[in-house]
Amino acid sequence: MDTSIVLFTRDLRVRDNPALVHACRAARVVPLFVLDDAILGGRSAAPNRVRFLLDALRCLRGSLRELGGDLVVRRGDPVAHVAELAERTGAGAVALAEDRSAFAMRRLAALRGLPLEVSVHPGVTVVPPGGVAPASGDHYRVFTPYRRAWERAPRRPVAPVPEAVRVAPGVDAGPLPPLDALTSGPFSPDVPEGGERAGRGRLEAWLRRDAAVYDDVRDDLAADRTSRLSPYLRFGCVSPLELEHAAGEGFRRQLAWRDFHHQVAAAFPELPRRDYRPRGHRWNRDRDALDAWREGTTGVPIVDAGMRQLRREGFMHNRARMITASFLTRNLRVDWREGLAHFDAWLLDGDVADDAGNWQWVAGTGNDTRPNRTLSPLRQASRFDPDGDYVRAYVPELAPVAGGDVHRPWRLPEERRRALGYPPPIVDLE
Ligand code: FAD
Repeated sequence: MDTSIVLFTRDLRVRDNPALVHACRAARVVPLFVLDDAILGGRSAAPNRVRFLLDALRCLRGSLRELGGDLVVRRGDPVAHVAELAERTGAGAVALAEDRSAFAMRRLAALRGLPLEVSVHPGVTVVPPGGVAPASGDHYRVFTPYRRAWERAPRRPVAPVPEAVRVAPGVDAGPLPPLDALTSGPFSPDVPEGGERAGRGRLEAWLRRDAAVYDDVRDDLAADRTSRLSPYLRFGCVSPLELEHAAGEGFRRQLAWRDFHHQVAAAFPELPRRDYRPRGHRWNRDRDALDAWREGTTGVPIVDAGMRQLRREGFMHNRARMITASFLTRNLRVDWREGLAHFDAWLLDGDVADDAGNWQWVAGTGNDTRPNRTLSPLRQASRFDPDGDYVRAYVPELAPVAGGDVHRPWRLPEERRRALGYPPPIVDLE
């Protein structure tokens, strides 16, 4: 085969990228990324993620140039661009990473309609969806048996960085559009840089400083010592398989959760829209409560801290995600889809499978085997932010309140409370 196209999607890296390695076996290659109008015009186009994506593409282009190649960037319909470039270069094949979202499956079906050899390669998860399956059924519905099978599943070898990327002649690489051509915001002010280099930097720093104590501190809200690699995993700037090799037991468990949600979403593509296990919930349509939750003005400090972290950083600590999601669906009884839409609009790591899977889990409509469990915001606050430092970091009105008292501002003397300018709680939790 003379020329191959590699279509990058959510695998924006040169290390451990099996699709790239496969395409580079051809004499010439067209490393392609298409800014897909169907995505940029839809809900996946959260401004924070578009910015992160552009960083990642800039970085990928730099890495491919170092290997003697380039990143060809186009905008529009990826299938049409693959067809056009195949025609122009005489390419006979296209390689891409396996992605089992409903959107990606439609794209793959359309690619298969082209007169090209289409090959699909692992790399988005540690174990591909469908890589393990129960004797009865197409996917695991419960995490623990999934995890056991996941542990036993064979792993592919880590793919080497290609020695050279020789781009087919006559192809204009095209410019990377400026951010404001793709989105007008709003953006979170405090976000990390995207891309493989930044992701590896974060990984190395985390392995050095925090990995050894991960199991002890992962739920400590103020410590903030989880890896924060989720946006890099979301865009494939770091390889989940490489991470698995580098990290310890507790962290591997989190990667198994990620794979678990991906195999659920692959089998149940309606996951972001429909209850996975309908339980006849009746949701409140309380716009004011929903707005207060979104803005971080519910008057419940641990909830408001999480919601404000989300806006400020495009990220929220996992424990805070659980607390805020539980508060919305259990205390306010607002539909999980409303919460999902708001998370999706701001999260750098926002991903159909992980976001919807976790929302449904918390709401009790998903894969939790104890769907009635409720997280008490106050108990969670005393357990995971005992000194109140997480709240003070994100809710400046409460910064003057010392220690754990910050979690119950309504117990402060009336005058002091008013001076803080922090709202009273919208639900009585005591
Ligand atoms: P670490 O603790 O360092 O974990 C390492 C990696 O494991 C993460 O980067 C992530 O890829 C994976 N992981 C950890 N926990 C989970 C989990 N419960 N489900 C799936 N993967 C996990 N994660 C996303 O990547 N995208 C989302 O859109 C998303 N939405 C969520 C919504 C809700 C309501 C909840 C409760 C959780 C959600 N999560 C989501 C899972 C989890 O909160 C984040 O992955 C984690 O907080 C990212 O921080 P970290 O990289 O520091 O995690």
